[in-house]
Amino acid sequence: MIPLSPLSLKTESWQQQLGNAYCQVKALLADLELSEHYRPEMELAAQAFRFQVPRHFAALMKKGDIRDPLLLQVLPRAAELQHRAGFTPDPLGDQDAHEGNGILHKYHGRVLLITTGACAINCRYCFRRHFPYAGLQMRMNQWRPALQQLQQDPSIHEVILSGGDPLSLNNHRLGSLLEALEKIPHVQRLRIHSRLPVVLPSRLDPPLIRLLADTSLATSLVVHVNHPRELSDELHLGLQPLRQAGITLLNQSVLLKGVNDSVQTQVSLCESLYATGILPYYLHQLDRVQGAAHFAVSDPDALQLHEHMEQQLPGYLLPRLVRETQGARSKQTLLRSQNQKK
Ligand SMILES: *Cc1c(COP(=O)(O)O)cnc(C)c1O
Ligand code: SF4
Repeated sequence: MIPLSPLSLKTESWQQQLGNAYCQVKALLADLELSEHYRPEMELAAQAFRFQVPRHFAALMKKGDIRDPLLLQVLPRAAELQHRAGFTPDPLGDQDAHEGNGILHKYHGRVLLITTGACAINCRYCFRRHFPYAGLQMRMNQWRPALQQLQQDPSIHEVILSGGDPLSLNNHRLGSLLEALEKIPHVQRLRIHSRLPVVLPSRLDPPLIRLLADTSLATSLVVHVNHPRELSDELHLGLQPLRQAGITLLNQSVLLKGVNDSVQTQVSLCESLYATGILPYYLHQLDRVQGAAHFAVSDPDALQLHEHMEQQLPGYLLPRLVRETQGARSKQTLLRSQNQKK
């Protein structure tokens, strides 16, 4: 592991820590004592989708291991530049679905609000790696059109903040968004989908905790942990005040070849999540986004893995194995019966 200076951890704000993230593949590989694995193609892949890794996340990687499951999630590889049939830039049709104001309304009663294009980390398998955020950015800087749409649609009871990563907004902006949402009577639930607590736990700072503890909306936080080693002490500590404030903590992960596609890893992930106060919610089959084909696990393999997990875990620790399908009214559960027919 790469030692973090305890002084910098204590004195820097999360924004400063974000500014200090690795943005050069070469530098991360050097600190992990993996310089010999550096290839110029990595920079080429990083041109297509920027390389960014906060130091906290890098510090959880094992030195000298090019197959480290945390490293594999962020390391640009030549395979990303190969085109593979069925893997497209916008597999979910989200670029068409959003209504120009950052709102994605695909499912009944709940909407996804794209609050920002920014993330603290760039996961190579991300389904938004080709999303044209630059065009959206302007409009996203003001919530008014989105809030107006929410106000006019009484069927919406839950607002899901997504992105990018909604916790890359500062507390002031988040606070004003929450305040506006609280004023819409039919919006009762707030959900935040964020990987930031995992890759930069200092984001769970006291003002954010206060915001989430004080809101009148019923609030849940869905974190994104793919591997049990991502559950650091800092994350555990950071989440405890949220638990005490009665916020529901859930996890979604993505099934990734070479990262978390073994029964042992998945069972250990679910048990460690529970020990941290988080319930497993979804295990996603990878979205078929161009450049991520090398992470894909086949449906039969995914189903078999899930069956083994079911045999080893209590029902409440078994995440639903799902895929997102363009045009569907909900996430689609992968079914064993369908698999047997094929
Ligand atoms: C995943 C998703 C949701 C949330 O779905 P749940 O099943 O409620 O977790 C809502 N809207 C969109 C567009 C989504 O992709
Ligand atoms: S944190 Fe989430 S949205 Fe951001 S790059 Fe990773 S998977 Fe994509």
